[in-house]
Amino acid sequence: MTHYDLFVIGGGSGGVAAARSSAALGARVGLAEGDKLGGTCVNRGCMPKKWYMYAAQCMQEFEAAKSFGWDVGSPRISWHQLKQNTFKEIRRLNKVYGTMLDQSGVHTYQGFATFMDARMVVVNEETITASKFMLAPGARPFVPQLEGAEYAITSDDVFHLEQLPERIIIVGGGYIAVEFACIMQGLGVDTTIMYRADALLRNFDHDIRRHAHQEFAKKGIKCVVMTQPVSLHKQDDGKIQLTCNHGRKWIADQVMFATGRVPNTEHMHLAAAGIKTDVRGRVMVDAWQKTNVEHIYAIGDVTDSHDNLTPVAINEARAFADTHFGNRRRNFSEFITPTAVFSQPQIGTVGLTEAQARQQYHHIHIYRRVFVPTKYRLSDTIHEKLLMKLVVDADSDKVIGVHMMGPEAGEIIQIMGVALRAGATKHEFDRTVAVHPTLAEEFVTMREKAE
Ligand code: NDP
Repeated sequence: MTHYDLFVIGGGSGGVAAARSSAALGARVGLAEGDKLGGTCVNRGCMPKKWYMYAAQCMQEFEAAKSFGWDVGSPRISWHQLKQNTFKEIRRLNKVYGTMLDQSGVHTYQGFATFMDARMVVVNEETITASKFMLAPGARPFVPQLEGAEYAITSDDVFHLEQLPERIIIVGGGYIAVEFACIMQGLGVDTTIMYRADALLRNFDHDIRRHAHQEFAKKGIKCVVMTQPVSLHKQDDGKIQLTCNHGRKWIADQVMFATGRVPNTEHMHLAAAGIKTDVRGRVMVDAWQKTNVEHIYAIGDVTDSHDNLTPVAINEARAFADTHFGNRRRNFSEFITPTAVFSQPQIGTVGLTEAQARQQYHHIHIYRRVFVPTKYRLSDTIHEKLLMKLVVDADSDKVIGVHMMGPEAGEIIQIMGVALRAGATKHEFDRTVAVHPTLAEEFVTMREKAE
């Protein structure tokens, strides 16, 4: 029987970070991964999504190029080439993760770990005990139970489609629905988003949500709101017929569910260790990532805490390692979380929405700007507009929310996160000289209050 100071279940971004950080601090660490190393982010999430997004953006870049005098002919996408190049790079990353674990001295097991009791797991018939366990198995797409759901795909499948569909319906209104709608539309697919409520991206600032609807409509993405599928039926010609709650029927080559995610706990036999989950099956943890069992911890998408984002899981992991093996007690509460939706145009957000700020603060100021990016000024065919917004606490002058929809919003919001984390005031934004001509300069040149 092998014993470790820490045994990590799951070799995604969070699990690998927990294992490597703990090992670097002197812990004897084992890690089990039943699938490919790198988890959702590397294999079927952030990384392939970003390459497909870049591919989709090219269409607009070709249009912009024409406005600068280029003759770009009639560009065509090779879906096969995009897939091939993407998965070649993913295989390289899988190996990099394995090498990083080896070099950190982490013993990696290729297999699923199952609890026998709160102190023992079995992986490939090998029995392992540990002083502490870290659960980091991630999550997978949730598909609502409805007639014909087996004909639909999820974000796990979309990267591997044999061919690009002519027409796709994407069900859901969150990050994944929006990102893949933009990818598909950018690659020339006739794209519809079907969403059950009235405006996409529920927890985002209302100006961003409104702007997103306008921008997506300009690109030709059809947003059908207050609508839900009730059944799917595969026709003789291979197309899928979707019947919605209003009775209307829709035909598409593919229907993709982007309706949230459920935790990957099925292999672990949590009950054997007495680990509690919430009604959605997520492992319940406290502010220190501790489950109800004293020596068992959990991070990332399997938990009921914090946003389901790769860098969140990584920071939870590093804080855990420092606390338990580095003699430096800290937890995720010290972080601020900027986030981006890699739609076209991108959305970046950090801090409070206007609605949240109005609830929490006595008096707030709003600064808002909508304009055409310089890059597209020469084009007659690109009508994209950019939205930038600052939410300021009028009493302290602190900037408490930054929201943007426009080119490179992900890059810009990353740095805005530093400003908010440092507690920057609007006065400090104003005392920063603009880099001209850029988009980000608008954040330091907004002088007139919208409200
Ligand atoms: P989200 O929770 O963001 O969105 C799920 C969507 O599905 C919501 O619009 C929800 O509606 C809708 N929905 C849920 N259940 C049903 C149902 N039964 N029928 C119809 N619609 C339904 O999940 P995603 O799957 O988009 O993404 C999961 C998480 O992964 C995100 O929350 C994010 O944390 C992370 N992620 C981050 C990315 C990034 O950083 N760029 C990219 C992709 C994912 P409603 O709004 O009404 O609840």
